[in-house]
Amino acid sequence: MKKNRTEDFPKLFGNESRIKIVPLGGMREFGKNMTAFQWGNDIILVDVGIAFPDEDMPGVDLIIPDFSWLKNQKDRIRAIFLTHGHEDHIGAITWFLREYPIPVYGTAMTIKLVENKLSDSGKGARDQGSAIQNPKLNVVKDGDRVRAGAFNVEFVHVNHSIADACALLIETPIGNIFHTGDYKIDYTPVDGDPIDLHRIAQIGNDGVLAMFAESCNIEVEGFSPSEQIVGETFAELFAKIEGRIFVSTFSSNIFRMQQIITAAEQFNRKVALVGRSMLNAFEAADSLNYIDYRKNTIIDIKDINKFAPHELVIITTGSQGEPMSALTRMAFSQHRQVAINKNDTVLMSSSMIPGNEKAIYRVIDELVKRGAKVIYHDLADIHVSGHCYSGEMALLINLLKPKYFIPSHGEYRHLSMHAKLAQQMGIPEKNTFVLNNGDILELNNRFAEVVGYTEAAGVLIDGSGIGDVDDLVLRDRLLLADDGVVAIFMVIDSVQNDLAAEPIIEAKGFIYKSEINDVIKSCQNQIYSFVDNARRSKSKKNKKTLKERIDSGSLYQQIRQILYEQTRRRPMLIISTVEL
Ligand SMILES: [Zn+2]
Ligand SMILES: [Zn+2]
Repeated sequence: MKKNRTEDFPKLFGNESRIKIVPLGGMREFGKNMTAFQWGNDIILVDVGIAFPDEDMPGVDLIIPDFSWLKNQKDRIRAIFLTHGHEDHIGAITWFLREYPIPVYGTAMTIKLVENKLSDSGKGARDQGSAIQNPKLNVVKDGDRVRAGAFNVEFVHVNHSIADACALLIETPIGNIFHTGDYKIDYTPVDGDPIDLHRIAQIGNDGVLAMFAESCNIEVEGFSPSEQIVGETFAELFAKIEGRIFVSTFSSNIFRMQQIITAAEQFNRKVALVGRSMLNAFEAADSLNYIDYRKNTIIDIKDINKFAPHELVIITTGSQGEPMSALTRMAFSQHRQVAINKNDTVLMSSSMIPGNEKAIYRVIDELVKRGAKVIYHDLADIHVSGHCYSGEMALLINLLKPKYFIPSHGEYRHLSMHAKLAQQMGIPEKNTFVLNNGDILELNNRFAEVVGYTEAAGVLIDGSGIGDVDDLVLRDRLLLADDGVVAIFMVIDSVQNDLAAEPIIEAKGFIYKSEINDVIKSCQNQIYSFVDNARRSKSKKNKKTLKERIDSGSLYQQIRQILYEQTRRRPMLIISTVEL
């Protein structure tokens, strides 16, 4: 039996003298970052991201965090704070606000992207449902402090592959928590505004109870290069390339977009943007005056034929080989305005996210087939990461000197390596926590432990709405993909309580045609003996009709068994009946 904690630590753990930290996503995975912090009757949340499904979830569009831990404490939630505008941090905001219409705080670019999402809601197939009425969106600047119940939250400027990224200083009545968000240390960032190491050092001086830190590049030693080197590579390449230049990149990386535009202007090229998310991101950044360009540099994609090839740069979505993206459609000659030809050069200015390699190389192959020259990350410095390397992580741990260390934003190996780094730097092992989604960590100045667990596996979303993909639907999709389907159709004469015609049996994607007749024959025989049995027992106690017997599932079980015995497969089985 579990020991009563309060007996062991009567003075340390009074009822209210502890903070609860509950990661609802982002632990042992990439994506759906979301964490709850609770003090007494006040809860605040940090981020509400989405994750993308694995291959074992066919047909699922995306995954959002499971909010059920919040369900019974709705009136305690004071606010949600967003660190930056990437999908793995804000992607589930629409689903969240529909259930929890609480104030949202974020910097200008973040809130712009949230607004785009909310105004799209109800339009997309992915996200059906009503639009959100009067969302309480609040724009803050770095350095701003926001009061939320017992918490004060300060936004601290960091560098990342999106504008306006922030870490959060969360002040609680018993100490400060530092949440890094996603960050890197860039001394020469494109917007000229390096991470606020001064403030971070000060926060460290004041004392940090707990540090919550991103881990994704922990395996890479040293310090990440500055985004600026990508600009230098662009300038070198643009100087040599004669025909049209295509650059694919993540649409939200407006620093990258800026550097492409700057290089284009340097070599007197116009810039056209293709892909909806690219245009959206440009508009959002442009409305905040975050992009610096000459008035006539940007042209509409419809006008590219008015310019010579050496006068054009086309920035496009599709850096991950996404099937519907502009670059993929161009590569497969399915784009309305742009056809790739042998004088074109395509720069893939992004990393390959693990799992996407196949799709990306497929697009590269198609581009090469059409004669284009393709330059990707392995061949030139046309991408740097927006995430810190282990040297930067060590620097931040050193500046903040937290009592407790909680690595986040990574798979298990990343979190565990990051925890080891903290231990090497003097944080006792018992004060580092490699958490699971749903772990309830309680801590105060003297003590910290995981006291419980809440459901937080995530909610699967497919085309039709929220959470309606249950395990049964998923299981069916896997069955269909693996073992195919067998469908049996029977017409029943309800007066005679007998079959009115021979049962029809169809199989698709199940076994080879040559083997199928034997299996169908066995199924038919089974059906006939089932019907005979039903008729014979009709006159006795059991008054069930043939249809009722079939609907009760016993025929289904018998047929399944025959299919398995004869083929060692478990296809999806559908039995349908009509009564005459
Ligand atoms: Zn990010
Ligand atoms: Zn992230």
